Amino acid sequence: AAAESCSSASSDSVASGDSAGNLYNVVLMGGHGAGKSALASIFAGAPDTMDGDFEHCRTVTVDGESAIITLLDTWDPQDGGSWTQEQCLQAGDAYLIVYSITERESFERASELRIQLRRARQSEDLPIILVGNKCDLVRCREVSVNEGRACAVVFDCKFIETSAAMQHNVREMFDGIVRQLRLRRDTKEA
Ligand code: GDP
Ligand code: MG
Repeated sequence: AAAESCSSASSDSVASGDSAGNLYNVVLMGGHGAGKSALASIFAGAPDTMDGDFEHCRTVTVDGESAIITLLDTWDPQDGGSWTQEQCLQAGDAYLIVYSITERESFERASELRIQLRRARQSEDLPIILVGNKCDLVRCREVSVNEGRACAVVFDCKFIETSAAMQHNVREMFDGIVRQLRLRRDTKEA
């Protein structure tokens, strides 16, 4: 298996990661400026790595078990490298749909993306987290926590508010998506 290498994700082969093992592609979606790249750079950690600019591969340990996550920050057409949005819609084993709590338009965009994703991957029970980023900017808030939470209920996904700037809840977000991937895996195996 390719599980030891970190080169699973490439726009040339958009097959999902090895969902039977511990190798997963996680795709960041969301409007431009919501904070996807800021969240990705926290995941990436030190900038002096061999990663591409938009594909970050890390071995993470969650609940004592390791997983190899390739985080794809390839959604924005202007900086997604060679990825098309259609490829992004197909490549993910899980999705983080990011909006900015300071921008209602980005929240509405997140709903559209959820619908687009559902259409693209119809029969699949994908792990998705709706992410309200920039929660440090309390005075500029346009979307309440309750609205975010309610939206996640409607869209049948998890919800978390983060701040990439303060590194608040970012680790929780990544751990959460790994836990959801495992839940799906364990249900399949059972
Ligand atoms: P992307 O287009 O979704 O990749 O968004 P970026 O990650 O490039 O972020 C857009 C802008 O928002 C940048 O100026 C970031 O520094 C800023 N930003 C991102 N996350 C946060 C956050 O949590 N809090 C604050 N205050 N600013 C943020
Ligand atoms: Mg970006």
